[in-house]
Amino acid sequence: MNIKNCFGCGVCAVVCAKKIISIKQDSEGFYAPCIVNLEQCTDCGLCTKVCAYSHKEVLDCNTTPQGYAAWSTDVVVRKNCSSGGVGFEIGRSLLDKGYKLCGVCYDVPSHKAKHYIASTLAEWQDSKGSKYIQSYTVDAFKAIDRKERWLVTGTPCQIDSFRRYLRMFNAEENFVLLDFFCHGVPSKLVWDKYIAEVEKKLGRVESVSWRSKEYGWNDSWVMKLQCDEGDIWHVSRRSQGDAFYQLFLGNQCLGKACYAHCKYKDLSSAADIRIGDLWGAAYKENEEGVSALIGLTKKGQQVIQNTDRIERTSHDMNIVLEGQMKHTLSYPCIMRPLQLFLSRTKVPIAFQALVSKYTNKLKSRLQIP
Ligand SMILES: Cc1cc2nc3c(=O)[nH]c(=O)nc-3n(C[C@H](O)[C@H](O)[C@H](O)COP(=O)(O)OP(=O)(O)OC[C@H]3O[C@@H](n4cnc5c(N)ncnc54)[C@H](O)[C@@H]3O)c2cc1C
Repeated sequence: MNIKNCFGCGVCAVVCAKKIISIKQDSEGFYAPCIVNLEQCTDCGLCTKVCAYSHKEVLDCNTTPQGYAAWSTDVVVRKNCSSGGVGFEIGRSLLDKGYKLCGVCYDVPSHKAKHYIASTLAEWQDSKGSKYIQSYTVDAFKAIDRKERWLVTGTPCQIDSFRRYLRMFNAEENFVLLDFFCHGVPSKLVWDKYIAEVEKKLGRVESVSWRSKEYGWNDSWVMKLQCDEGDIWHVSRRSQGDAFYQLFLGNQCLGKACYAHCKYKDLSSAADIRIGDLWGAAYKENEEGVSALIGLTKKGQQVIQNTDRIERTSHDMNIVLEGQMKHTLSYPCIMRPLQLFLSRTKVPIAFQALVSKYTNKLKSRLQIP
């Protein structure tokens, strides 16, 4: 196995019978496989067989997709989720039907996102809302018993590899797979620097909400961090130049595989269900949050029909996809110097100043006034 700059989905480490693949953060802040005892490798090829990065095609299922605008009818769920809370409600409904759930939570002490398993509604609460950093999948994916029924959620590349893994074991029947429209994952080095900067000013970060709806859903690129010094809230918005969102949404710090190698824009997906933000003209006045909800397979469409606590309206795909990226992104010229700087510097620096420095450099290179 000789894979560099891959999606970092971790499924190769899950399938390896010799347990010689581990997933570690690389020097640019993304997960990558590394073989620990190469001499034990038997060249069985399972790791590349399940690897979505090693295949050109996406494992799609060829059903005409059905698209909706949708949201949770539970106002608290809708408020705490990133768009309409449909991911949470699909999980809740499947839990009632005897499924187990695998989603992503945020681990505050390590400031990492990780996949985890929920068997109760209380445990599923931690999956609410997007965590805009790459999640570590291996421990949770390894703990999945393929004989039980599961909902597994994740980025499109994680789900594509996971479906390959299930297909290899002829185990797709027990699974519902859910992904989302994915902008790409930002570097963990950028996130660590951002957190360090906030902690320097406000004390230890105790909780993170990436998409606080304090100013409404249309301006919901709002970072809300609860810190331990006197319950101070740090709330910063993209519209006011928040440094993390400037780099993330300006496509300046995504994983190498999130640019030209991403195969999952538009409706390209290996999942049964795709969700996202339904941005665009039809719901521009809505401030509570609207999810795009798409049934991609017959199974996904049935799950959507049978999900309680969701209000949904059927729409033409043009409306459902209006705000989504249609094409892959090009690799930014500041990416390499920025990441090298972030990985090497030991000197405490003002994160906002760093971002301004690099965005100004980019502007002058591109001759943007
Ligand atoms: C890195 C990233 C990029 C995204 N890019 C876009 C985009 O370009 N366009 C768009 O419309 N939507 C994007 N989304 C999805 C969007 O942010 C919302 O998740 C989506 O609108 C569903 O909202 P909801 O309120 O129904 O979510 P919820 O009901 O809260 O469900 C969110 C689901 O996402 C899972 N999840 C959260 N964080 C991660 C993570 N880091 N890795 C894997 N799974 C995770 C949770 O387990 C949960 O199942 C992105 C999400 C992430 C994590």
